[in-house]
Parts: sequence; structure tokens; C-alpha cells
Amino acid sequence: MAETIFSRIIRREIPASIVYEDEHYLAFRDIAPQAPVHVLVIPKEPVRSLAEATDASAVGGLLLVAAAVARQEGIEESGYRVVLNTNGDGGQTVFHLHAHVLGGRPLHWPPG
Ligand code: AMP
Repeated sequence: MAETIFSRIIRREIPASIVYEDEHYLAFRDIAPQAPVHVLVIPKEPVRSLAEATDASAVGGLLLVAAAVARQEGIEESGYRVVLNTNGDGGQTVFHLHAHVLGGRPLHWPPG
């Protein structure tokens, strides 16, 4: 898989505002936040997108970390959205699987 900016964040080659880390996942604040809370959760083992993911426990773990981050950020009660933009029409721009955790304001549906 081609290197992305997220691999460089994992290796601490570029700075990020890290809010959670364990052996398999890293979570950090989005550089261009779309909501008061906007955190990205990524697996340390890179996969290009959800479309190419094959490890069910890794994807499930990603979602559980997203929920833990939402709890840690204080938006569990008020509510939040977890988004996995996938490929072109899905709006994916960084091809290292990531879950957006968005909250802290009402989120509209359907998204634009
Ligand atoms: P996506 O469009 O779903 O691929 O999301 C990629 C996200 O990564 C965007 O929301 C960007 O704002 C975010 N992003 C890109 N570079 C960085 C960075 N260096 N640190 C934090 N977030 C970033």
C-alpha cells in the first residue's frame, strides 16, 4: 500500500493532536474540523479503505475505539456520528482507512 500522511503521523514524523493510542489504533484531531469534536481513528496496520478491508476484528476494533473516543470526548450522551468515507464518491481523500468521529453539534441528515 502506498504511504500516506497518516503513516507519517503514526511514526511521529509529523505532529498531530493525539487523543488515544493503543497497540493497534491511533486517534487524533482532524486538522480541518467539521464539528466541535472531529477525531480520526486509524488502524496502525494500514489498509487503503473499507472496500479493501478483510480483517473483521480490525474493522470492529476500529469502531469500538471510535465509540471509546466519543465517550472520552464527552459526546456519548449528546450523540455523534462515525463516518468511513470510501473511495471517490464517498469523499475519501486519504487512502489509509480511517473513521471520522463527529459530534458536539447537531449533525444533519442526509449529508450533502
Ligand atoms: P477523508 O476525506 O475521509 O479521506 O478524510 C481525510 C481527513 O484527514 C480530512 O478530514 C482531513 O482534514 C484530514 N487530515 C488530512 N491531513 C491531516 C493531518 N495532517 N492531521 C490531521 N488530519 C488531517
